[in-house]
Amino acid sequence: MSFSDLGLAEPLVRALEAKGYTTPTPIQAQSIPQLLEGGDLLGIAQTGTGKTAAFVLPSIQRMVEAPKRVLPTHCRMLVLAPTRELASQIADSAREYGKFSKMSVTTVFGGTSINKNRQDMSRGVDILVATPGRLIDLVEQGFVNLSMIEILVLDEADQMLDLGFIHALKRIVKMVPRKRQTLFFSATMPTTIRELASQFLHEPATVSVKPAATTAERVDQYVTFVNQAEKQALLTLLLADPAIDRALVFTRTKHGADRVVKLLAGNGIGANAIHGNKSQGQRERALGEFKDGKTKILVATDIAARGIDVSGVSHVINFELPNVPEQYVHRIGRTARAGASGIAISFCADDEKAYLRDIEKTTRQKVPVQALPEDFTNKANKIKSQRVNAIGADPAPREDRPRGGRPLPRPRATHSPQATGTTGRSYANASGRGARPAGGSGGGTGGQGRGGQGRSGGGQGGGQGRGGSGRSAGGPTAGR
Ligand code: AMP
Repeated sequence: MSFSDLGLAEPLVRALEAKGYTTPTPIQAQSIPQLLEGGDLLGIAQTGTGKTAAFVLPSIQRMVEAPKRVLPTHCRMLVLAPTRELASQIADSAREYGKFSKMSVTTVFGGTSINKNRQDMSRGVDILVATPGRLIDLVEQGFVNLSMIEILVLDEADQMLDLGFIHALKRIVKMVPRKRQTLFFSATMPTTIRELASQFLHEPATVSVKPAATTAERVDQYVTFVNQAEKQALLTLLLADPAIDRALVFTRTKHGADRVVKLLAGNGIGANAIHGNKSQGQRERALGEFKDGKTKILVATDIAARGIDVSGVSHVINFELPNVPEQYVHRIGRTARAGASGIAISFCADDEKAYLRDIEKTTRQKVPVQALPEDFTNKANKIKSQRVNAIGADPAPREDRPRGGRPLPRPRATHSPQATGTTGRSYANASGRGARPAGGSGGGTGGQGRGGQGRSGGGQGGGQGRGGSGRSAGGPTAGR
């Protein structure tokens, strides 16, 4: 099946061809015809399924087919997204898909100049992509008017709710004309989301490309039981494997992310961190360097990673397991984008075993165990002593306040040697060389192959170890 078969017009098909996309993904095949008809849609889909194109393409076509002059400060289509990164990514995609259709696209999100937003909106725009908080500010100040909206999209609704945007969403929806097309996407569909969807949507078609509880099948997942204190050494050993082409490392907290970057630097491994205490510029730089391959390792918190769409993430490494099981699904969905395969390795300390159980319950899968590398204790001690010589002793770990999910246990004093009776595969092929190669319907460059290049690391993004769990100037990456 081709994109033209779905009813898309030539300028859109041409734009897709320019990106090398010839075959619709399942969500595109199912949603595009429905949306071209003008109906509402409830989409249950993870990121990485091609859902952005699924909602952007038919919307552009409908707007082109019914041309209308946009009034100053108005827009015809509004896309709401939970994070700045996701908002700017959606806008980039919309610009690319709409490049032969003469669509104007603008973003508004916190952390950028409100004057610039005001200027961008002064003449009106076809597609506005926004985070809820900043949008409300602009509406209240009279710089944005939502009364001409024909198409409203709520993307990653579950994340918007998790981030506390429920009231903002309800307010925004009240300001949008009742006669509109509404598209509502969420990776998971708990009752609260379903209720919200039923308030916003009118007789929607439902498209579900993957049951909410199922983890992306193309991701090879493993868990290694390791003491908290030895995780850094394990990470260092793992990252030394040339099969790791581009790794996204997850921590639960911002401080955890900075700490990992700092400790990796102590072992001569370059990495950048991306989280809510970083300025917009720092985040964009870190993401840019990761995307163009200058930095092979990006350390991220869950919220900051929401907008990350990089094809060719070969590995997702859960340095710490998430205390909310759905986050695990989101995390591992960062690899194996659009047809590529990927590998997810989780480090699990004793006090995280309950999180692992929750994850396995939610995904209805047992994560295979991968044993520690041979002679791990000695190797770990060597790595730790090198690091101590290089940068001094590790600072004590500290936790941010958890948001929802199981309360975070205090890390227990850990001790060596690690003794976890595990079976399963060995660390000889830890980075997944034995795993399936990338394949499928195109998109990412996928897993393995490239090797040998040392860890160059374009700049050390982290390590400044800012104290306090409060929100810094730009606020969290989500937020207004
Ligand atoms: P999304 O789920 O919208 O974040 O999309 C995930 C990735 O898949 C993005 O990098 C898209 O550019 C890419 N993509 C979208 N549609 C297709 C397609 N039909 N074929 C290959 N890649 C695609």
